[in-house]
Amino acid sequence: MVVVIDTLETRKTGRPRHPEKANRPDAPILRKPDWIRVRAPGSAVFRETTGIVREHGLVTVCEEAGCPNIGECWSKKHATFMIMGDTCTRACAFCNVRTGLPAALDPTEPEKVADATAKLGLEHVVVTSVDRDDLADGGARHFAETITAIRRASRATIEVLTPDFLRKDGALEVVVAARPDVFNHNLETVPSHYLTVRPGARYFASLRLLQQAKELDPSIFTKSGIMVGLGEERNEVLQLMDDLRAANVDFLTIGQYLQPTRKHHPVARFVTPDEFKAYETIAYAKGFLMVSSSPLTRSSHHAGEDFARLRAARANRLGA
Ligand code: SF4
Repeated sequence: MVVVIDTLETRKTGRPRHPEKANRPDAPILRKPDWIRVRAPGSAVFRETTGIVREHGLVTVCEEAGCPNIGECWSKKHATFMIMGDTCTRACAFCNVRTGLPAALDPTEPEKVADATAKLGLEHVVVTSVDRDDLADGGARHFAETITAIRRASRATIEVLTPDFLRKDGALEVVVAARPDVFNHNLETVPSHYLTVRPGARYFASLRLLQQAKELDPSIFTKSGIMVGLGEERNEVLQLMDDLRAANVDFLTIGQYLQPTRKHHPVARFVTPDEFKAYETIAYAKGFLMVSSSPLTRSSHHAGEDFARLRAARANRLGA
């Protein structure tokens, strides 16, 4: 199913969800293969999760990105919070999050996220955000305040999935000083695709961010993810794995790119489950502590279970 949210948004607000993409030619949508099948949303627990998210006035990447796993995740009360609003200052070609000028930060949001984490009973919470290039610190302090508020309200381990903080000196230090358990920043794609897929970002700046996070606090787990099926070559993916290992990244996620609307980057092809398995095998051989590679892998999919395995893998390696 293709998300037609762009059209709906225009009808509702009179403004396209992605104004920068409105005049782009429609890209054809490939039919999904049989191996991309997801659970339909709608269980009682799913509705309970929705209620807690709404009651706290929170935004989730699960909804904003049109994530295919929402039926499964929300039926287990696993929601991933997206802080600092629902509007992003970047305009990546793959992303369904609304773009434009964001509103001011909500100073009560860290407490709301903390309260919702406790109410959902999360043992591991993932907090991500829109890009906030408009803020002097890129939103780093808001991330830190959210981590601190969660620590006060619950025993959940905390994973942050941050923007690249490009040209925001000192921002990473602020986030790392708040001591998240996992620092995640997605490379999203191979360097040759940055100009078309992630034009506002710089591959080596993202890589360096991950490396610096580990240098600042070696006890923090670092994690990064990419989408495949955007037209990348296999060797480019293997090179990216080497780059991440050179930056001491612990955990790699690889998932199939799905095109949110006809205005987004087209899917070049659907990578087969066997190819995902092969990427996983190679990535482990290259030294990652954890790898999740499958068509429906997303950064925050099964993040709690994966974190437990990640910790065990480090303990195992240190004991070996
Ligand atoms: S995979 Fe992540 S973004 Fe998707 S529904 Fe699950 S928690 Fe939300």
